Amino acid sequence: FKGFAMKKLNETGWVEKEVPECGPLDAIVRPTCVSPCTSDIHTVWEGAIGDRKDMVLGHEAVGVVEEVGSLVKNIKVGDKVIVPAITPDWDDEAAQRGYPSQTTEPLGGWKFSNFKDGVFGERFHVNLADANLALMPEGLTDEAAVMLVDMWSTGMMGSENANIPLGGSVLVIGIGAVGLSAIAGAALLGAADIYAAGTRPISVKVAKEYGATEIINYREAPIDEQVREATDGAGVDSVIIAGGNLTNTWKEAVASTKAGGTISNVNYLSGADDVLIPRVEWGCGMSNINITNGLCPGGRVRMERLARLALTNRADPELLVTHRFKGLEKIEDALYLMKDKPKDLIKPIVKI
Ligand code: NDP
Ligand code: ZN
Repeated sequence: FKGFAMKKLNETGWVEKEVPECGPLDAIVRPTCVSPCTSDIHTVWEGAIGDRKDMVLGHEAVGVVEEVGSLVKNIKVGDKVIVPAITPDWDDEAAQRGYPSQTTEPLGGWKFSNFKDGVFGERFHVNLADANLALMPEGLTDEAAVMLVDMWSTGMMGSENANIPLGGSVLVIGIGAVGLSAIAGAALLGAADIYAAGTRPISVKVAKEYGATEIINYREAPIDEQVREATDGAGVDSVIIAGGNLTNTWKEAVASTKAGGTISNVNYLSGADDVLIPRVEWGCGMSNINITNGLCPGGRVRMERLARLALTNRADPELLVTHRFKGLEKIEDALYLMKDKPKDLIKPIVKI
C-alpha cells in the first residue's frame, strides 16, 4: 500500500509498503479521516525521538475495518471505528500497574508513527482490536471523532492530572488543539477561573468557547507576572503546560503556581536536554508544588467516554478543525500546514 512517511530525519515522502499481517487478536483498518499532529513535526524535524527510516507517519484516524484476526470478538469487518492514537498492550505489567500508555517500555503504548507504521497510508495494523478500537457511535462525524483520539484525550488528561479544585483557578500554557482540549477539560472538571496563554486569534476564540475566562499574551510580558497580577499575587491552583519552550515555560509555570498546587505537563519536550526548575520559585524544593505528566490515554473505553462527552454536548470537538482536505495525497499538504502553523490554523483534517 501507499503511505506518507518520514524517510529519515528532516525528510518526508511517499513510500510503498506491504499490508501487515493481521495477528489473531488484531485488525487491519482503512482510514476514512486522518489528522496530522504537532508531535509528527517534533518527530521529523526536531528529531525528538531519534531517527526513523521510511516510517509511515500519523496517529490520528477513524476508519473502516478491513480484516480481523480469528480471536477478535467484538469488532467485525466493515465496522466504522475510532482508532486511539495510543494502542497499549493491555496484558503488560505497566498496564496492570495503571499505566497502559507506558506498556513494554516508556511511551510504548504510542506505536503509530513512533516505532510502527502510522495511519497516513491506505491501510494500517491495530494490535488488540477489541481493546484498542471503539465502534463509531451514531451522531458523531468523522472530523469530530478524529479530534478525540489524541487532542481531546491528551488535553483532557492534562486537566485530569492537574488536581483542579472545584471552583479553583487554572492556567493553561499553549492553546493549540491540545491546550484548548485542556481548557475544555478544566471547565468540565469544575475550574472557575481559566487563564489561557497563547496568541493565535482563532485559538483565542475557541479558548473562550471552551471556557477560558482570560487570555494571556505570553509575548507581552512573562506569563507568571501576568498571572500574579490577575490573581492579586496569589497565583493559580493548577497549571497545564501544553506549549511553550524549555527556556521560559517551566520557570513561568512554577512561578505562577500557588504553594500546594500542581503543574501538569502534556507538552512533548524538545529543543534542549534539560528541564530547568527554578529553585526559589519552587520554594527551595519545599513548596508542595507537584509536577505530573503523561502520555495520551488510549484504548476503547477512553474513546467511548470522550465520544459520550461530545454526544452529550459537553464540548464540541469540531471547533478544533480549521482546515479540510480531500484525498489521500493531500496528507502531505496537511502535514506541512501543521509544520508552518499559519495564524488561522488549529487542526487540519484529511478525508480519504
Ligand atoms: P500547537 O503548536 O498548535 O500549540 C502550541 C501553543 O503554544 C500555541 O498556543 C502557542 O502560541 C503556544 N506557545 C508557543 N510559544 C510559547 C511560549 N513561549 N510561551 C507560551 N506559549 C507558547 O501545539 P498542539 O496543541 O498541537 O500540541 C501541543 C504539544 O502537545 C506539542 O508539543 C505536542 O507534540 C504535544 N502532544 C503531546 C501528547 C502527549 O501524549 N503528551 C499528545 C499530543 C501532542 P501561539 O498562539 O502564539 O501560536
Ligand atoms: Zn499526537
